[in-house]
Amino acid sequence: MTADDVRKKHREFLFPATANYYAEPLVIDRAKGLRVTDKDGRTYLDFFGGILTVSLGHCEERVSGPVAEQVRRLQHASTLYPNEWIVALAERLAAITPGKLRKSFFTNSGSEADETAVALARMHTGTLEVVALRHGYSGRTLVAANLTAHAGWRMPSLVPGIKHALAPYCYRCPLGLTYPDCGVRCAKDIEELIQTETTGRVAALIAEPILGVGGFIVPPREYFEIAASIVRKYGGLFIADEVQTGFGRTGGTMFGIEHFGVEPDIMTFAKGLANGAPIGATIARDEVAESWKGSTISTFGGNPVSMVAALATLDVMKQEDVPARSLAMGARLRKGLDGLAAKHRVIGDVRGMGLMQALELVEDRQTKEPAAKRAGAVMEAARRRGLLVGKGGLYGNVVRISPPMLVEAAEIDEALTALAGAFDDVQ
Ligand code: PMP
Repeated sequence: MTADDVRKKHREFLFPATANYYAEPLVIDRAKGLRVTDKDGRTYLDFFGGILTVSLGHCEERVSGPVAEQVRRLQHASTLYPNEWIVALAERLAAITPGKLRKSFFTNSGSEADETAVALARMHTGTLEVVALRHGYSGRTLVAANLTAHAGWRMPSLVPGIKHALAPYCYRCPLGLTYPDCGVRCAKDIEELIQTETTGRVAALIAEPILGVGGFIVPPREYFEIAASIVRKYGGLFIADEVQTGFGRTGGTMFGIEHFGVEPDIMTFAKGLANGAPIGATIARDEVAESWKGSTISTFGGNPVSMVAALATLDVMKQEDVPARSLAMGARLRKGLDGLAAKHRVIGDVRGMGLMQALELVEDRQTKEPAAKRAGAVMEAARRRGLLVGKGGLYGNVVRISPPMLVEAAEIDEALTALAGAFDDVQ
């Protein structure tokens, strides 16, 4: 098949809602490390990592090797039969996650991981109502799509009991305030939300330490301490959705929430945990996990191939000290992005942590009118210059940059040069 054949058949045989990047969607044929090659033989530097999922690098041999071996040894068991890989990964997650998180349930995606977390919190507290964040993203299954607070990604509000708190979006403060004088009022407002929009008891707050799809929105340092303590006061648990921020991505720590000094009651993972193999995981404290009464099953959840992929990914992360790498390479990337912002007024905000960095584009720095078309144009121009980046934000005006974390300094510099060229192109 040629690239055009693929695009034509995609239009013909896939749901039209299957969102693709680029006016002419990129047909990827193969990849190695940070280099992705398309059907026409063009190679790109990948600074989005398949939505922060290729956490180490494409087809990293130290993961692909054990995966290939496992496919030949035992591909499938289902959660009905214990196997050594599912217990090994569960034990490893218990060891590396903060606090008393200890018992895991495995699924195939972030959506399922979040659904599992919310269902568990509801069972544990005997309460239905859940607080999520505006601009947050939880996935595409029914509860997850209703937790999601982005019109474009939502489904009609079919799930009752979900309340959306103000986003800790300092660049566009929903209260029109400025940090730190604001006293983090957005977090404190959760108390009034619970008092006025719920029965006065909640099952949980579910939140991303950095709002990923929302455009890498970084909450103020005190945010989660305030938010979690309010939610706990009203009987709820704190669920940290680490689907994007987990496994070194935010630099210096293994998990995003560790920057905020709060221990979650439940954490969810997917994406980067297995360097591209499908996986979802939900981990909880013992007594929380024990609240799931009755039986539950996931046919593919915890399958030996994904477990081996995750174990191998975590081994490499340890060998390479990925959190430290992410911190160092992230700082190099950030310095370059700050330099770009000094030159281009279209860049209204540079934000992020570690190797999770974003540029929010605006028509005017005073009015902050979102510049979505320009973000799209920058993406296209970057592609022409051989660089893949992502896009996000409620207004589609945020360029998201999140390379695989084994990225080298030379690749950061190469990406920054391509990005600088892309901004010059769309000037
Ligand atoms: N949570 C977060 C924070 C996410 O970014 C995503 C995916 N973008 C999900 C949950 C859902 O994950 P999946 O697409 O694997 O279902």
